[in-house]
Amino acid sequence: MNLISTQTPTAELQALDAAHHMHPFTDAEGLEAKGARVITRAEGVWLQDSEGHRILDGMAGLWCMNIGYGRDSLAEVAARQMKELPYYNTFFQTTHVPVIALSAKLAELAPGDLNNVFFASSGSEANDTNLRLVRRYWQCKGQPERRIVIGRKNGYHGSTMAGASLGGMGGMHVHGGGIIDGIEHINQPNWWSDGGDMSPEDFGLARAKELEDKILEVGPENVAAFIGEPVQGAGGVIVAPDTYWPEIQRIVDKYGILLIADEVICGFGRTGEWFGSTTVGIKPDIMTIAKGLSSGYIPIGGSIVSDEIAQTVGAQGDFNHGYTYSGHPVAAAVALENLRIMEEENLVSYVKNDIGPYLAEKWHSLADHPMVGETKIVGLMASLALTPNKETRASFASDEGTIGFMTRERCFANDLIMRHVGDRMIIAPPLVITREEVDELIVRARKSLDEAYEQVKEQGLFVAK
Ligand SMILES: *Cc1c(COP(=O)(O)O)cnc(C)c1O
Repeated sequence: MNLISTQTPTAELQALDAAHHMHPFTDAEGLEAKGARVITRAEGVWLQDSEGHRILDGMAGLWCMNIGYGRDSLAEVAARQMKELPYYNTFFQTTHVPVIALSAKLAELAPGDLNNVFFASSGSEANDTNLRLVRRYWQCKGQPERRIVIGRKNGYHGSTMAGASLGGMGGMHVHGGGIIDGIEHINQPNWWSDGGDMSPEDFGLARAKELEDKILEVGPENVAAFIGEPVQGAGGVIVAPDTYWPEIQRIVDKYGILLIADEVICGFGRTGEWFGSTTVGIKPDIMTIAKGLSSGYIPIGGSIVSDEIAQTVGAQGDFNHGYTYSGHPVAAAVALENLRIMEEENLVSYVKNDIGPYLAEKWHSLADHPMVGETKIVGLMASLALTPNKETRASFASDEGTIGFMTRERCFANDLIMRHVGDRMIIAPPLVITREEVDELIVRARKSLDEAYEQVKEQGLFVAK
């Protein structure tokens, strides 16, 4: 076989990719016919592909590239750490300097008594840890029957068995034969699609109340924890009404149930605070972290755990759980450098006080587009609902996602990465995006919406269900 490089012709790369690479969440045959887009370089918020297109990455990779592409110091830190100590484990009473420093830093950044970190290499793995950890906690408390964890439909907690089971994506539950036992789901707080005639405030309370109903249905003495994303990401950037989270907090407190905030997207500045829990005003017992922790430069995730849980579990011998790469020294060193840059450049405050409000104003201006219903944004994660009727909040008569997909294809054609979830369009750009780049993002988004709207009308698809 010839040496493969970025100089290899695109068609040849695509053929090899189709022959040997299984893509996540992808229709392989469909992709083979079309050929995958080959990304070769990136700088700041800009990607470059093998055909020389310069693409504005409105999704920060997969919600992770918080500090932007092309930061040399992360590469330098990784190289230095690889030379000094490329690997050692943290099992069997050993540790190393990068994992000590990162744990202490995370304890400092995390709110309240979340002072203890159990490391993994991804968000999914961290949620696996959480499922076992909360069940172990209740065993240690002498209440082993508390093993049910309640999540939400259309929530996303990863793709391992535990991650997919805690999440509420029906399509994922079907592939692989069901979910782990002892996991229940309640409805999501999506007012636009499910709110009917209720005010957002009443709807938020009603959806939170479903948690209490579910707890009473299965028996409070059997419930270990509730898990949710402060703002649902992969589900379509669903922002709960203001009434929702205070009511959830009240309910978990009332029944003494642990609260797990999945901060994999919301953490590390995405919502304008270090953690989304602060933004929505909740006090979790465990936070899941990954993605922005290293800005995607290297795989690392983890669980930040309260003193109460860590001490209770720690006082009862081994917790029989861990990964070869828990607290990997190179990953820990890179994550630390990422956090150092975030602090040095005041990126969290930049999102909260500067670029977040700037993007919000521009994003909401898209609401005058004939195909756009609600526009939602928290920090630098935003969504808009496509609809054939803004007044009734109708969905399209065509299969869910048809119009969203058509719009996303126009975005790709206009060198903008904006994703669709069903018929919602979503963005989550790198936190370092400038005002000029936001302007460019909005120009390309509007152009793509215009083109999609023309297509939708031409094909007779601008029709309500
Ligand atoms: C991406 C994501 C995960 C899974 O993280 P991976 O690193 O892909 O395993 C879990 N929870 C949320 C909220 C996510 O967005």
